[in-house]
Amino acid sequence: MAQKSANISQSQPRNIIIMVGDGMGPAYTSAYRYYKNNPETEEVEQTVFDRLLVGMASTYPAKESGYVTDSAASATALSTGVKSYNGAISVDVNKRKLTTLLEKAKSAGLATGVAVSSQVNHATPAAFLSHNESRKNYVEIAQSYLNTDADVILGGGQRYFSPELISQFTAKGYQHITEFEQLDSVTTPKVLGLFADVQLPWVIDNPDAKHLSTLTKKALSLLNQNPNGFVLLVEGSLIDWAGHSNDIATAMAELDEFAHTIEVVEQFVRQHKDTLMVVTADHNTGGLSVGANDEYAWNPEVLHRVKASPEAIAAQAIASEEWQKIVTDLLGFEPNIQQFSQLTNARMQGNKTLAIALRKIIDTYSNTGWTTLGHTGEDVQVFATGPGAKLFSGHQDNTDIANKIFSLLPKNQ
Ligand SMILES: [Zn+2]
Repeated sequence: MAQKSANISQSQPRNIIIMVGDGMGPAYTSAYRYYKNNPETEEVEQTVFDRLLVGMASTYPAKESGYVTDSAASATALSTGVKSYNGAISVDVNKRKLTTLLEKAKSAGLATGVAVSSQVNHATPAAFLSHNESRKNYVEIAQSYLNTDADVILGGGQRYFSPELISQFTAKGYQHITEFEQLDSVTTPKVLGLFADVQLPWVIDNPDAKHLSTLTKKALSLLNQNPNGFVLLVEGSLIDWAGHSNDIATAMAELDEFAHTIEVVEQFVRQHKDTLMVVTADHNTGGLSVGANDEYAWNPEVLHRVKASPEAIAAQAIASEEWQKIVTDLLGFEPNIQQFSQLTNARMQGNKTLAIALRKIIDTYSNTGWTTLGHTGEDVQVFATGPGAKLFSGHQDNTDIANKIFSLLPKNQ
């Protein structure tokens, strides 16, 4: 008997943390390895991704949406174990509600939470917390969070939560905060923390802020107060947003903070051996390629010199007469005469066009390639550690990830 219960405690986790790097296909984690490599040493150092890799997952949505998924269909698959159409928030192809991981966890007596760098009602957290026929119904989705009984909701999205809605949350016992400094004042669940109008600020523009890892640490300490355990979703949401802009410098900075957050969770798993962490991506974004233009080269050292997001560089360059100096300072290298003349034209067309031109110059110097501003359909990686981690090895579908997690939840009484 003792042997048997030991086996159960080894394979059945008390806490489960699922982490999604939005858009973080294998090209991103490969690029990140070289981005983080210490050029002073002979070998290429391993990253947290290399250390935790266990398998791969296909991500295709329900048949009617073809082979390339969006974040909503993929999050629905990861949260419910069922494939649906692109845009679906945990409803099936007939728009019927599907039970989510966090709902199953709640009914098993576990605490639940989300910590994300997008607005909290964006596709991925939405598919773990609620149901809607369209990811675009942001206000409805925010409203629906009232009925989730989630213990921790942390991220951006103030604009979707009216004062009336906030007062309904506080009436239900939620502490509502809007500043990172207020996190210390939260010592028990429940908490609704909305720290930005929409998404959190770019990591590249706030390199010391460590927003996602800070939110994740707080979520872990609050959820861990439940004696039955918890399920937490963490999303590095903005890797995908940078990918949609084909913005390699911004993407690597976002990935760096996501990797740091994984290390925070890995540390928690080491200290709480009854905790399983599973990390994956929902899809690939941008068709990123590590090397481009028929050249056998990728130069990540260029990216370390870039001191601000191209968006922020463009905004400063448009506001100043001395814009060429600003661009050179913030890029960390001096564009050539031909590139400056392209930038001059772009600058006259406004912030967006100038930011695009700056990204193209960063791509040229780093030799980074992209094939699309949308998503692509390659499989994604699966990383795991803790009790049950072996279940996720080899090839699987994204729906299998959910079904494997379900098999590890305590059985409902
Ligand atoms: Zn996307």
